[in-house]
Amino acid sequence: MVSLRFRPEWFKSKSLLGYGADWPLDWREMWRYYAQVEDALKISGPVNYPWGPKRPRYPYRPHELNAAALVLARGAEALGIPWSPAPLATLSAPRGEAHPCVYRGFCVSGCATNAKQSALVTWIPRALAAGAEIRDLAMVGRIDTNERGLATGVEYFREGRWQFQRARNVVVAGYAIETPRLLLMSANGHFPEGLANSSGLVGKNLTVQSNQATWGVMQEEIRWYKGPPSLALTEHWNYTDKGKDFFGGYCYMSQGPLPNAWVATQNGRGLWGEALMREMQKYNHQAGLKIVGETLPQERNRVTLADEKDQYGLPVARVTYSFCDNDRRLIAHALDFMGQALQAAGASEIWNETDDTCHLNGTARMGDDPRTSVVDADCRSWDIPNLWICDGSVFPTVGGVNPSLTIQAIACRTADRIEVLAARGELNVHRNV
Ligand SMILES: Cc1cc2nc3c(=O)[nH]c(=O)nc-3n(C[C@H](O)[C@H](O)[C@H](O)COP(=O)(O)OP(=O)(O)OC[C@H]3O[C@@H](n4cnc5c(N)ncnc54)[C@H](O)[C@@H]3O)c2cc1C
Repeated sequence: MVSLRFRPEWFKSKSLLGYGADWPLDWREMWRYYAQVEDALKISGPVNYPWGPKRPRYPYRPHELNAAALVLARGAEALGIPWSPAPLATLSAPRGEAHPCVYRGFCVSGCATNAKQSALVTWIPRALAAGAEIRDLAMVGRIDTNERGLATGVEYFREGRWQFQRARNVVVAGYAIETPRLLLMSANGHFPEGLANSSGLVGKNLTVQSNQATWGVMQEEIRWYKGPPSLALTEHWNYTDKGKDFFGGYCYMSQGPLPNAWVATQNGRGLWGEALMREMQKYNHQAGLKIVGETLPQERNRVTLADEKDQYGLPVARVTYSFCDNDRRLIAHALDFMGQALQAAGASEIWNETDDTCHLNGTARMGDDPRTSVVDADCRSWDIPNLWICDGSVFPTVGGVNPSLTIQAIACRTADRIEVLAARGELNVHRNV
């Protein structure tokens, strides 16, 4: 085991914590953007969330727990660690004309009542009200630049033909695979390595989150498909380093895979035919815990362009990714602990699903230094002042929690910064140059 106590040499290393990479944002400034997003999404959450700095109440009350969540609670209590109802972007009371959750489940396939908040339900109506025009079913294939190295607009395919949209500023928000793909595909004589890529880091440091699970069978009926799938969680291992032999942390949550997903999971373990049928008959008694685990950013994990082309004639993305030893040690710790928790909650036939990932970040990271990052803290590219990147790809690191609240909080901050810079006349670079 390595000691995780603070070592002075870490001051000399690149990172404040001694591992990972630093963010150029002050978390205290981000607090109000998190609050803004939580209010827009009407997050339902407990009065006293046990982890992190003292926080204001969540806008809406927490959801009732389903039986799958109570299994997590029992296991955590038996092992002496805190747990909590999960803060969720699913309404527990009406928001305007949107109905609250009716707990019918099947949330992974969409939300029949629009209780689940999303870009479609929450943000696009606001954008439309503010004057945005949406061009749906459009595929952007290229960002063009001029001889001054400024972005001039985008080429996109819609209604059967390629079209050009001129723009004073281009904001790319395609997420951690498609954003670097577009920047790399837009290479030209001025930017032969792709746009915003003087650091050579576009596409690099792809950082997933580990997503392994422990499953077991309960004596009582659980019917884990009822309600949103992850109604309880513990962040205990994000907030303590005691006994760890790895850097970073993870949370784990209760689960509720639908039958089709559960069949696929069982297939993944090699079950087929009669053995699969027998296992599926236990579906209503099944319970499980799954991590969202931190992984370390590494340049070798990356998105590049493949030779193969898609239906638009554009090169598809090639994704290269593998866990490092630290990631594997974190996963082993989580699986061991979750196994103990399930057993303590009364589960039998416990087994681990060891090969899964979730969430993508990091392929156009933000930073303080143009040599080691793609965009600055405002999500503005270092190389092209009227090119912005505003999605999960700007994360320098991932933590052990889901990323969407942070993606949206950063987007709100970037929108504010664009407004401030526009008011100062620092945005309209085409006119200034
Ligand atoms: C099944 C599932 C469950 C998840 N659950 C959670 C969760 O519980 N909590 C959480 O925090 N996160 C969750 N995530 C992750 C979350 O959805 C992402 O982190 C988040 O959506 C990323 O936001 P984004 O704005 O960066 O990108 P996206 O939401 O992916 O938006 C990118 C958009 O750009 C469009 N686009 C891409 N390239 C182009 C192009 N060239 N031209 C035109 N349009 C383009 C895409 O179509 C897409 O609409 C989940 C993801 C999945 C798949």
